[in-house]
Amino acid sequence: MKIVKTVKEVREQVAEWRKQGLTVGLVPTMGYLHEGHASLIDRSVSENDRTVVSDFVNPMQFGPTEDLQTYPRDLAHDAALVEVHGGDLIFHPEPEEMYHEGFSSFVDMSVLTEELCGLSRPVHFRGVCTVVTKLFNIVQPDAAYFGKKDAQQLTIVRHMVDDLNMNLRIVGCPIVREDDGLAKSSRNTYLSAEERQAALVLSKAIALGSSLIKTGEVNAAVITGQMTELIKAEPLAKIDYVKLVDAATMQPIAVFDRPALCAVAVYIGKTRLIDNFFTEDVVPEV
Ligand code: AMP
Repeated sequence: MKIVKTVKEVREQVAEWRKQGLTVGLVPTMGYLHEGHASLIDRSVSENDRTVVSDFVNPMQFGPTEDLQTYPRDLAHDAALVEVHGGDLIFHPEPEEMYHEGFSSFVDMSVLTEELCGLSRPVHFRGVCTVVTKLFNIVQPDAAYFGKKDAQQLTIVRHMVDDLNMNLRIVGCPIVREDDGLAKSSRNTYLSAEERQAALVLSKAIALGSSLIKTGEVNAAVITGQMTELIKAEPLAKIDYVKLVDAATMQPIAVFDRPALCAVAVYIGKTRLIDNFFTEDVVPEV
């Protein structure tokens, strides 16, 4: 397993693999890797001859008041995890390697970015689309692996790849959770012991929404209303959103009559956490 910091080194390594006729998978991350990231690496390793993990805290996807400076970083830990899971290359660029002086090209998207996280994080998805496009151009992978934990991001990336005729497969992977249900996230490290306990309202609300859908509830206001009540009962929680949206357009729906995404974003103290489920992943009760 190698760690490289420049675009040139990635290109040289991938070119060598291509000469040998090998396939390449890409797992884009912001580092501080956990078992959620590991599941994407495992999937890529199982489907490709070589796997590249990008490990880059992308400044462009953080708003001015967000946690860019404090975002946790630990390259030695990340390298050990990638090695154990069979990844072949970590791309760990400095911000200047990705955004040279005078950088002025962006990839942006309408509609899908305007709801959910796009409302409270207005520059976020432009930063995501731009960096993901750059990573696709640098690595030129056969497939790239994204978690359903960031469901809106996954939907946006799929849409971007389709709109812009990018030549790769996008693979969505299930959410990996702690034993008590909390979705694994690098940001969970911000939580105090008390907040860690309070954070369980997210997965409990998701479980409630999912069970309402399983039992046939189709009224979005009823589903999100009950989830909202559950979250509001936790004093450390402050809701950003609780929504049921069309899975393709990310626009809110009143009636669950098509594939949908049920998503929540909740501040636990100062930490903003997200969780969700796609209704296509909910197994109806028989
Ligand atoms: P991040 O480093 O948070 O930007 O995440 C990098 C990738 O890992 C994204 O595609 C995330 O959706 C995915 N990921 C993060 N947490 C999880 C999780 N708990 N389960 C599955 N995938 C995850």
